[in-house]
Amino acid sequence: MRFSGKNVLVTGASRGIGAQIAKTLAAEGLKVWINYRSAEEQALKVKAEIEEAGGEAQTIGFDVSDESAFVAALKSIVESDGELSYLVNNAGITKDKLAMRMKSEEFMAVIEANLKSAFVGCREALKVMGKKRFGAVVNVASIVGETGNAGQSNYAASKGGMIAMTKSFALEAAPRGVRYNALTPGFVATDMTAVLKDEIKEGFISKIPLSRFAEPSEVAEAVAFLLSDHASYITGETLRVNGGMLM
Ligand code: NAP
Repeated sequence: MRFSGKNVLVTGASRGIGAQIAKTLAAEGLKVWINYRSAEEQALKVKAEIEEAGGEAQTIGFDVSDESAFVAALKSIVESDGELSYLVNNAGITKDKLAMRMKSEEFMAVIEANLKSAFVGCREALKVMGKKRFGAVVNVASIVGETGNAGQSNYAASKGGMIAMTKSFALEAAPRGVRYNALTPGFVATDMTAVLKDEIKEGFISKIPLSRFAEPSEVAEAVAFLLSDHASYITGETLRVNGGMLM
């Protein structure tokens, strides 16, 4: 058993990387809280798959960019389970546009959904986990937060901010026994990248030493490692899962 804790909240777990993180952590014996924003049916499907495999899961719908909803959701998890052992801030969106044409509202919408939400999750988790002097948080950032990307000034700022914020939380939380790490996936085969045109995908693949996009399970395994007792001396780290695209 790699985990001393008992439960985890995974935001944005109705599909894509988050759904796979939920399944991987449930298979490791954790009770998983599957957050979704609108796709309740898909979230229930993830729950059913986990239960069929012998795991334990519950769905919890809320919009992570709604601060009071996020705070209330964490409170209800703690009321139900008596604790929150782990948090994965995975929910994220893109709203791509060249910076010259991007309205500040479009910039801020992505900051609110990706960065402010993760801040609220990190802060509330520290309050709960700090009391027990145990816990770990993983923030799913992106390679784009390290390199920047044309058409993604909002997304890059949100993910770069997540990386720096994770280090600050790691410093504040270390004396309380809580670890914070960030993970920066490269390109992963999900709905988020399915919208890319084939020639654009091929252009990216030509720059990836492993010559393919990652499968969500390859990201989920890295998240599980960072949360687990196997990573007990790792905090404030940024783990790259990008097929060698950035070294
Ligand atoms: P995805 O397939 O688009 O799924 C996004 C998930 O986030 C969905 O479950 C969605 O729920 C949820 N979500 C979005 N906004 C939300 C909100 N405001 N409140 C609650 N849930 C919300 O995305 P993905 O590819 O799995 O990406 C997951 C994370 O990895 C994101 O943070 C993304 O930035 C990051 N990432 C992805 C890639 C990639 O290549 N795919 C690369 C690097 C980093 P609903 O269905 O209910 O809307």
